[in-house]
Amino acid sequence: MLGFDASDGPQLHAGHPTSLRHTSLRHTRNVLDVRQSIFSIDVEDWFNLSGTGQEPPPSQWDHLESRLEQNFRGLLELLAERSSTATCFFLGYFAKRFPHLVREAAAAGHEIASHSYFHRLAYDMSPAEFYEDALASRHLLEDIAGRPVRGYRAPAFSVTAHTPWFFDKVAEAGYSYDSSVFPARHQTGGLAGGSFEPYAVQTSAGAITEFPITVVPMLGTRLCFFGGGYLRLFPYPVIRTMARHTLDSGRPVVFYIHPREIDPAQPRLPLSLRRRFSCYVNLRSTRAKLDAILREFRVTSFDRYIAHGTWQ
Ligand SMILES: [Zn+2]
Repeated sequence: MLGFDASDGPQLHAGHPTSLRHTSLRHTRNVLDVRQSIFSIDVEDWFNLSGTGQEPPPSQWDHLESRLEQNFRGLLELLAERSSTATCFFLGYFAKRFPHLVREAAAAGHEIASHSYFHRLAYDMSPAEFYEDALASRHLLEDIAGRPVRGYRAPAFSVTAHTPWFFDKVAEAGYSYDSSVFPARHQTGGLAGGSFEPYAVQTSAGAITEFPITVVPMLGTRLCFFGGGYLRLFPYPVIRTMARHTLDSGRPVVFYIHPREIDPAQPRLPLSLRRRFSCYVNLRSTRAKLDAILREFRVTSFDRYIAHGTWQ
């Protein structure tokens, strides 16, 4: 590190030696967009394909090949090469199995947050079960990282109209922000009419901030370009254009990725044709696409965005 916070103020990446502070340059090709976006990683393994009906139960996870360490470290290397900071939403289960990965991410300046303990869908749990899972995950991550854990993301964006208790339980479990809402139709969740922008939610346990996954209104529907299968599917020029459109509208772009998405050699689960496509399309080109995003857009973690941004 160079002794400064890479997410503070307009800052330049290697290969961009001249000042790019003039907003008139922001539509030029290969110019870093200094407006702030958020980069997040859901830290889980190749087999954690929730909602497909093929994700093995946790009792089997230790018996399967793990590709988490190499793939997660690959993402950390990408971030380091571009002096970028991210939020790492860890599954409690893998934090316990690979505590050194939590410490490595924290030592590199990334935020440690929770992706639940056992990767169960929110709408498959009772409110009490959800609370226990979210609380256990936070306590474990705080013990390992030695710092407060403030953020939560539900597996597969499984916040729906059927989980009206969701924000109350997230707040009760001690979190101050959440990024679980997918404000469009989604295979395993989604709040199709949800807000595009970050917003405060008043709960029985105090206020928390919701950072919905970024979607763009288009052709009478809402489309995501910025994470998971969407990011792998769309060509980079489309992602870049949509990201700039989002930033033009005054919102941050919330990028999200899983370690397995840069691993073309991962084993395959026996999925339906449709899910096979969405889970495995373009695995070979994702690393380069992520590098282009990190090169051209200024990203940071949720906690730094909250500390420096306008959403409290
Ligand atoms: Zn997940």
